[in-house]
Amino acid sequence: MLRLILGVLIGAVLGWLARQYMEEQESGWPAPAEPTISIRPDAPAEADEPAAEPGATTVAYCARCRTKRPMSDPEPTTTKTGRRAMRGVCPVCGASMFRFVSPA
Ligand SMILES: [Zn+2]
Repeated sequence: MLRLILGVLIGAVLGWLARQYMEEQESGWPAPAEPTISIRPDAPAEADEPAAEPGATTVAYCARCRTKRPMSDPEPTTTKTGRRAMRGVCPVCGASMFRFVSPA
């Protein structure tokens, strides 16, 4: 009886060790993990868009979402160097957005 219990225990431990070993082997691969890039399900990969079309919603790059979004509450502003720009808020995360506007 004791031998049976020992056998089952040793079998279980060996199986567990084997699984640990396999997992270590698997994690040893150069996995294409992207730990620094936050994957947001609502942020599909977007192709490069053309520069702001006149009259359309102002699309700016949100540094926090790491994607381009239509600017919320866009306000025309002028930089210190006299360049025209638009300042707004990201509608998704609320971070402030900024983009230059080509003088028309
Ligand atoms: Zn954002």
